[in-house]
Amino acid sequence: MTANRRVCVIGAGPCGMSFLYHNNQLKVAGKECADVVCYEKQSNWGGLWNYTWRTGTDEQGNVCHGSMYRDLWSNGPKECLELHDYTFDDHFGKAIPSFPPRAVLFDYLQGRWNKSNLRNYITFNTNVQRVTYNKETDDFTVMTKDLSNDKDLPPERFSHVIVATGHFSVPKVPSFEGIDKFPGRILHSHDFRRANEFKGQRILIVGSSYSAEDIAMQCRKMGSDNVIISYRRKPTNYHWHNGIEERPPLTRVDGSTIHFNDGTTADVDAIILCTGYLYNFPYLPDSLRLKTALELYPAGLYKGTVWMGDGNNKLLYLGMYGQYYSYTMFNIQAEWASAVVSGHKQLPTREDMESDIRIWRRKQEQLDGRFDEIAFQSDFGCDLAKEVGCTYDIDVRTLFNKWENDKRKNIWTYRDHAYTSVHTGKSGIKHHTPWSRAYDDSVDTFVNQTPNKY
Ligand code: FAD
Ligand code: NAP
Repeated sequence: MTANRRVCVIGAGPCGMSFLYHNNQLKVAGKECADVVCYEKQSNWGGLWNYTWRTGTDEQGNVCHGSMYRDLWSNGPKECLELHDYTFDDHFGKAIPSFPPRAVLFDYLQGRWNKSNLRNYITFNTNVQRVTYNKETDDFTVMTKDLSNDKDLPPERFSHVIVATGHFSVPKVPSFEGIDKFPGRILHSHDFRRANEFKGQRILIVGSSYSAEDIAMQCRKMGSDNVIISYRRKPTNYHWHNGIEERPPLTRVDGSTIHFNDGTTADVDAIILCTGYLYNFPYLPDSLRLKTALELYPAGLYKGTVWMGDGNNKLLYLGMYGQYYSYTMFNIQAEWASAVVSGHKQLPTREDMESDIRIWRRKQEQLDGRFDEIAFQSDFGCDLAKEVGCTYDIDVRTLFNKWENDKRKNIWTYRDHAYTSVHTGKSGIKHHTPWSRAYDDSVDTFVNQTPNKY
């Protein structure tokens, strides 16, 4: 039963797919749901999880969306992103270790999407070029292009638009004095695909967040000579050893010599800028466009979702926060959004929405460090869960805290630990090979292994 709502979902990554999933759940339950069309510019679903070897441009000549690298393993335990109605045990039919490689997580996501036949809702190879809000008719016009045939398609009208195009795709690329004369390779983490090419090299990593720490470890794992991580504002403060060290901000580059602001220098062969990403919505006009730096609770979004600018509360964004919680947060946010869009949940007055945003953003200002941030995002997820009357446990802050502590104890071995699922009560098994020595990341080797061999 459709509720006279025609919804355009932009992007078939984990966020867009979560919306399709929940709208379909309403349909299956015989409840009012929306008529949904999802446009995806790539030829497959999965967003960043749809791994590509390409860098620069994709096969259509457009900017390549992918930022994942070939040998990426989850940097958080799977028990922190496990979906209550589709657990890892459900998918694989057995217990697996807690830190799966990229392909294993993609396999898991696709299992849930396939079960609901969600592919039927997606128009692939179709880029959303422009979205405009029509004040007179209180709806949106969406312009798209069929990328396979290089053909503009006729404009379509929608009552709601869901923006689910991610925000870890357009690299933020700073410059440094003298870097233009650096003789070696310079790249951003967006274009990093394998560490093997840096074997035997001395590497400078700029940045101190997740890409910096993980790519530094990847490079050492694959045989780089040594790695220096140069932070800007905050060091990672992990106990680096085994060929990785941390230094303060770099001040200038002189040939292959890097100068740091504590007066030290180092000679390196390659520079990898792990300096984060820009929010980029080229298909949205100013009045509909979210403009923010990476935050847990960006300004201008009620419940982190409903755009408070133009669009009469009918433009919704998914997944636009910094992500401790990922799949489970996308899931609960999409459940909330589909309840709003289908008319099962009414929005409060504009004044109340603005006041709610202010409360969350004031809390955000007071956060001090990662444990605080985890607690904040846990509370945000619980708030959404309460709003949709959810009965399962979404709060996994104790697992996230254990994860942070494991990393602080030993950054090299944190992926070798096992965590317990809040949904099944069962623990992940120990991986057969410590992460630092595990080179085969295929689904088969990871899933069909013999546990506790070391
Ligand atoms: P995306 O996955 O980016 O998907 C957006 C989709 O929108 C893409 O398919 C894209 O093609 C499409 N699109 C964009 N523009 C248009 C347009 N104009 N028209 C049509 N379609 C369009 N999270 C974890 O939970 N665990 C991890 O281990 C993990 N590792 C990560 C590693 C890296 C290097 C990065 C960058 C992120 C990682 N993440 C991880 C976080 C990641 O952000 C989420 O897991 C997830 O992919 C976000 O989903 P999304 O749907 O918001 O965006
Ligand atoms: P990020 O978290 O936004 O971090 C960007 C980093 O760049 C920060 O340390 C920032 O420093 C630094 N920076 C920005 N501008 C700079 C400048 N001008 N000079 C020097 N440093 C600068 O981005 P990210 O690390 O790429 O992470 C993005 C997402 O990818 C996260 O969700 C993460 O979980 C995910 N990821 C996951 C994995 C994995 O699962 N294995 C691996 C990699 C990434 P300041 O602190 O000073 O701002």
